[in-house]
Amino acid sequence: SLVPEQVALRFEQVAFSYPEQTQMALNDITLQIHAGEHIAILGRTGCGKSTLLQLITRAWDPQQGVILLNGQPLREMAEPTLRRTMSVVPQRVHLFSATLRDNLLLACPEATDDALSSVLQKTGLGKLLEDGGLNSWLGEGGRQLSGGELRRLAIARALLHDAPLMLLDEPTEGLDATTESQILDLLADLMRNKTLLMVTHRLRGLARFNRIIVMDNGQIIEQGNHAEL
Ligand code: ATP
Ligand code: MG
Repeated sequence: SLVPEQVALRFEQVAFSYPEQTQMALNDITLQIHAGEHIAILGRTGCGKSTLLQLITRAWDPQQGVILLNGQPLREMAEPTLRRTMSVVPQRVHLFSATLRDNLLLACPEATDDALSSVLQKTGLGKLLEDGGLNSWLGEGGRQLSGGELRRLAIARALLHDAPLMLLDEPTEGLDATTESQILDLLADLMRNKTLLMVTHRLRGLARFNRIIVMDNGQIIEQGNHAEL
């Protein structure tokens, strides 16, 4: 089960509705995502942005159409290969009642303490190391994280995973403009030549992306680069 170095994705007339829902969450999505492309996905609440990412993680199977990863139907890929091919920053981040180290290691069990410290510095979480270091206890019975810290922890996890495809669902929600811009710069830099899909409500920082996709009502209604839209 070899993990590909680069990832291209293709949606062919994909339609999906959640179990026991009559309304389509995604409707006739045809989309080609090139290897190394960085794409921002915009659209109002409930339009299907998270669902689109969920289908790529194979949390659900579409009722119609096919999703191809480097030409191979997603549904034919072996689960371990699929997991190692993509890093996901979910819309709702989970903090485990565990040490800071273990909260990070679930993405990458073999990472060294130096690698963990380095990714915490890069994501602006260096101050979590100040008291207790990687052994400090997070979550229940320990230190709680702010919304912004939690989002950065999820980004740190995803960066440690070091997969050729990264899917981020509103990773900068709750961050101030300066931090947001630092995180977007970091992603643009560390994910260069890798494929990145980011759902966002924010209009700032979109010039960094190769393409912007606008969704409405389960469909793609517009796409282009920052200058075109
Ligand atoms: P937001 O910007 O608020 O995160 P979104 O664009 O990510 O919205 P989705 O979460 O993809 O929207 O939801 C698309 C549609 O599917 C919505 O109508 C939503 O109510 C519905 N939906 C989402 N998750 C489920 C689920 N688990 N079961 C049933 N319906 C769902
Ligand atoms: Mg969503």
